[in-house]
Order: sequence, then C-alpha cells, then structure tokens
Amino acid sequence: MPPAPFKTRFAPSPTGLLHLGNIRTALFNLLLARRQAGVFLLRIEDTDLDRSHADHTAALMLDLHWLGLAWQEGEGQGGEHAPYLQSQRGPLYQHYFSLLEQQRLAYPCFCSDRQLGIERKTQLAAGRPPRYSGRCRALTTAQVEERIRAGELPSLRFRVPAALTVEFEDRVRGPQRFASDDIGDFVIRRSTGAPAFFFSNAIDDALMGVTFALRGEDHLTNTPRQILLLEALALPVPDYGHIALVVGPDGAPLAKRHGSRTVRELRDQGFFPAAITNYLARLGHTYSDNRFMSLDELAAGFEVARLGRAPAHFDETQLLHWQHEAVHRASDEELWAWMGTDVHALVPADARRAFVEAVRANVWFPVDARKWARIVYSNELAPTAAAREAIRQAPAGLFGEALRLIERHPDDFKSLSEALKQATGIKGRNLFQPLRAALTGELDGPEMVKLLPLIGLERARHRFQIIGNQITVKSEK
Ligand code: GLU
Repeated sequence: MPPAPFKTRFAPSPTGLLHLGNIRTALFNLLLARRQAGVFLLRIEDTDLDRSHADHTAALMLDLHWLGLAWQEGEGQGGEHAPYLQSQRGPLYQHYFSLLEQQRLAYPCFCSDRQLGIERKTQLAAGRPPRYSGRCRALTTAQVEERIRAGELPSLRFRVPAALTVEFEDRVRGPQRFASDDIGDFVIRRSTGAPAFFFSNAIDDALMGVTFALRGEDHLTNTPRQILLLEALALPVPDYGHIALVVGPDGAPLAKRHGSRTVRELRDQGFFPAAITNYLARLGHTYSDNRFMSLDELAAGFEVARLGRAPAHFDETQLLHWQHEAVHRASDEELWAWMGTDVHALVPADARRAFVEAVRANVWFPVDARKWARIVYSNELAPTAAAREAIRQAPAGLFGEALRLIERHPDDFKSLSEALKQATGIKGRNLFQPLRAALTGELDGPEMVKLLPLIGLERARHRFQIIGNQITVKSEK
C-alpha cells in the first residue's frame, strides 16, 4: 500500500457566516497541506440540526472559493470518503456506537439535563472539577431495557478508563498530559440520536484519512477524549495542533466591536482576497519575508513551528496595509471593475485609465474611488471644514489670478502653479494648499498634476469663480 497522503481539513459547523477567525483556521490548514504537497479537505459538521443551515454551508463554500482556498476533497468536490456532510453519515456513526456498546466501552445513560446540572453545580461549589458521577455506569441490561420500554430515551456515554494518563505531542503547544480520572465518562450520542461533536469529529478524521488536525485552542481539552475514543476503536489518531485564538486589542476574543467582520462583509466592502490571506497568514504565524505573497508563496514559507502560542492580536491597520498593497498591485482593468457602477457612471470612457492612475494611491475601497469620482466630476463641491479654512486664509488675490491663469494652463497644474507663483509671489504651502482646497474641497488626496486634467478647464474655472465670489461677498461685509 502506498503511504497515506498528508491531509489536513477544515471542519466548520454551518451555524453562521464565516468570519476572520474561522477563515484563518481554514487558511492555515490549506497552507500546511500545500506546503507538504498534501490534500486539504472540507468537511461540514452539521450534526446540530437545529443550528445548522444548508444556506450557511453554501455561503461558506462561496467564501472559500472567493478567497481562493480550494480544497481537493470534500463537500462539493467529492472524494473516496464521501459523504462529507456529517448529517449524512449517521449509519457510519451507528456502526461505531454499536462496536463500543458490544465491547462495553459505552453505556446508555438516563440522567436528565436537570439532574446533571445540579450535580455540576454541587461539584463546582465544592471546588471540584465537574465530572459525570457514573450513576448509570453499572445499570444491568435488564434495567436498561426496562427504562427504554417505559419510554425513556438514553444518551450513550463513553466509559473512560480509570487511572490513565493521556499524553500527546501538540504540534503547536508541545507535550500535553491529561489524567483520565479528570475527564469523566462523556456523552458520545445524545438522547436525540445525534452524535456528539467529540465523536463524529474524531471518527471522521480517522475515516477520512486526516493526518493533521490544526484547530483552535478551544478544542485542546477535547483532544484527550478524542484520543481515548480512537484508541478504543483501534482507529488512527491524527497529529493535533492547537492554535491560539484571535483576540481584539483588549485581549477579549475577537468580536464585532474590534472590527471583526464576516467574510461576506469584507467582500462587500471591497477587500481583495489576497489582502485577507496576506494578513491572516501573519496573524499568529511569522514570516521572515514581509512581501506581499501569493498563496503558493505563503505556503512555501508556512511552518507549524512558526505558529505562536500566545493569543494573536487582530490589528485593523495591518489588514488595511495589506489591502493597500493589493490595490497597488491590481491592474488598471481590475481596479476599474472593482470601483463599481457609481464610478463607472461618473467617469467618462476616455478618462478611465487616467482616473484609475490618478486615484490608485489614495483608495483602499470602492467607496474612496466614489468619493474622488464625485470630487472630480461633480458641479457642486462640498469642501471639508479644514479646506474651507485654507480657502479663507488664502493670500488675497490668489483666486482671482488663478481664474485668469487657468485659461492659459487649462490642464497643466505644474505650469499653472508656476505662473501663479510668478504673478503673485506666493509659493510653497501657501500656494498649494488653497489651490488644492479650491479645486477638490480637500487638503489631501491624489496628485494635483493628475487630477487637474480630469477636472478640466470648465469645472476648474467654475470652482475658482465660486470661491472668488464668496470671498468678495465676505470681504464686503
Ligand atoms: N466543527 C468544529 C468547529 O467548527 C471543528 C473543530 C475541529 O476543527 O476539530 O469548531
């Protein structure tokens, strides 16, 4: 038999839209698989039928496609271990439940949630870790059958062997040890018949040939349970690595208030996929190279040893930095399409390329391009307060002279400002600030040399005129 391929997976529960945290897990697994020339698999963990929605599965697959995170096996792609929706794998799980029951490694449990809740509270109050008391552990077959006949629906519990130490090497966090006595028998099938997360997740990793499970550290304490289960069933145990969670600047798990958004929101806002992948690949993983990289390049430099153990701090400015890089790298055609229909409606066909070139360095998102298109092409400017102030403080006579000279230098800002300097003696900041403010209503922005030809003689004249008039009106009072 050929050796099993190196295989990682992304195993989301389709209970909502993907956000930055989930996507980072998917990305790391993809990069790791690609680095090892292995397989990246997508499995949908939809065993919680109340909270899982097919719409979310469709949405997350769309998000992964959009980000370029292609999987070689799994939902939507097929493969030898189908089906990849856990909700369709019931008979497989049943087979393993029966095996465990036959070997008396699992037993039916009739304890109600209420009973378990009270026990839990009592244990916590006594300063002990909550653990199943073992009440149903020793029920006889006759007792079990009688209660089932009476209409009670049992869950199924895994019988955790006593006095064992479960040890494993976490590929990110190093050696781990857990005492089986601290674990307590745990539910592997709910009374509804649905498999518990521990169970289906571990069984599927084994059955689907996953060799490396890289996942959030919130799953670290599940791992000893999963290893016990797989060993009891003589199934292969993958390597596990638990990555630190993403937190906001205040150290709390990343949330909306920290600027965390769903992938869909990021897409709608105009993020480039490569900006997101370049940012996330560096969130809790270090690269020696700070270049903007393709997925292949990110994969080539990806190493499990470079994953941090400390929480990864989300930093919006870094995300924006990579977005700016992506804008910088996009072709004129890509940027034009990305700017969207509002911009397309404002910018004349023969000025497209010049417009893209003029504003490229000053846009992060289509909304910025819209702003500059409005500034260049609208007849009514709405200057910012700072721009109004710069106009008010402009040296006397500047705009009158500008109005006269613009006729001779209609689309050459350099020669216009040179001529103005000659005529008025005003130079430097005192010249450029009021000119920019008058022509764009802003104090910063794209180079005036590139903007003036787009604004054109008529609008430039109009803008100087309006400002000239207002200043005259003011000074008459
Ligand atoms: N469905 C689990 C989750 O979304 C998967 C955990 C794992 O990667 O093992 O958290």
